[in-house]
Amino acid sequence: MNAPVPSTVPFPSSAEDPVPLIDLKPQYQNIKDEVDETVQRVFESQGFVLGEDVSNFEGEIADYCDSRHAIGCASGTDALILALKALDVGPGDEVITTPFSFFATASCIERVGAIPVFVDVKEDSFNIDPDAVADAITPRTRAILPVHLYGQCADMDAICRLAVKHNLVVIEDAAQAIGSEFQGRRAGVLGTVGCFSFFPTKNLGGAGDGGMITTDDAQLAERMRRLRVHGDAGRYEHLEVGMNSRLDALQAAVLSVKLRHLDSWTEGRQRNASWYQELCNHEKLEDIIQLPETLPNRRHVYNQFCVRVGEGLRDSVLSSLREQKIGCAVYYPKPLHLQPCFAHHGYKQGQFPVSELLSEDIMALPIFAELTRSQIERVVTGLSKAVHSARENKTWQPVKKAA
Ligand SMILES: *Cc1c(COP(=O)(O)O)cnc(C)c1O
Repeated sequence: MNAPVPSTVPFPSSAEDPVPLIDLKPQYQNIKDEVDETVQRVFESQGFVLGEDVSNFEGEIADYCDSRHAIGCASGTDALILALKALDVGPGDEVITTPFSFFATASCIERVGAIPVFVDVKEDSFNIDPDAVADAITPRTRAILPVHLYGQCADMDAICRLAVKHNLVVIEDAAQAIGSEFQGRRAGVLGTVGCFSFFPTKNLGGAGDGGMITTDDAQLAERMRRLRVHGDAGRYEHLEVGMNSRLDALQAAVLSVKLRHLDSWTEGRQRNASWYQELCNHEKLEDIIQLPETLPNRRHVYNQFCVRVGEGLRDSVLSSLREQKIGCAVYYPKPLHLQPCFAHHGYKQGQFPVSELLSEDIMALPIFAELTRSQIERVVTGLSKAVHSARENKTWQPVKKAA
């Protein structure tokens, strides 16, 4: 117990060791001294909500994303709600978004009383299809809410052109995409407002919940700052009814320490992705496992590494990997337009074929930065084994095309 911890802990692994989908412990072990010192400092100060730690961290995020303003809040979900509220998106307004995302992308629209209008995604990037967005614009459309899914930016050029043409605002759901780039510019400054999450499993994860909003618009920034503290303009002068959505000092302080390591962790994720590419090619898995594509002019930060498997094979591949103690998961098994809570909008099965197909054939593999080459090898060997019997039995199908 309590042996001194070297600064970089080698990840213990052998051919039989489980490979978790994500394990946050090795990351903590590597930065334990810095984090523990910071936590202790915040406790000594007994300042737990907002304050200097939060404003310093907001400045660091603004620098990191190259935005003029950054506003900390309680979660990524709240970041989206605060952005919509500050932009006066409300009852009767339509917000165009993707059905292939985490639930909060659409629930925040519903929460402010607006109407989520779903359009399908592209098969190459899993991100919202700008042509489909164009077709969905009506006189009631107020905003486009693209998601940079798994850490790769949506086609922001085409989306912003549409926004300018139709006088719409663009809210980036960048919860999975801190540090992701589109044409050399960072997620969070590509639209009107950028929304980030510091949920522990995101690329920059706190010791609990947290969120951040970025924008270049000073007025909007001021309003979001006010909305996060009950619309208080100062001295208990409430200009409007806001929320209680503040970032904790403890979170900000820990995140500030972790931000210094984010680029090296991102490089680790990218290195793991390239190992998957190399090893899957070597195993000749390309006909049955489709690896994610990085589109030109993007920096993919791989919050998730999601592959598609041949038609009808996902469940057997998942259970084989689980038997082999290799972590895997499905993000997301049910597209948002088919969620029971959105049934009143009247969407039907079959309406968004790409999103529906992806929800049936996509699966996430371990990608966290501290994975070793031998662990990635073990995952690929496991994958190969998982699809082997399907191949032998000639029951395998190539990855299906939606169109
Ligand atoms: C995580 C996530 C959110 C919500 O963030 P929380 O901090 O969990 O509220 C929103 N959108 C997407 C795409 C996410 O992945």
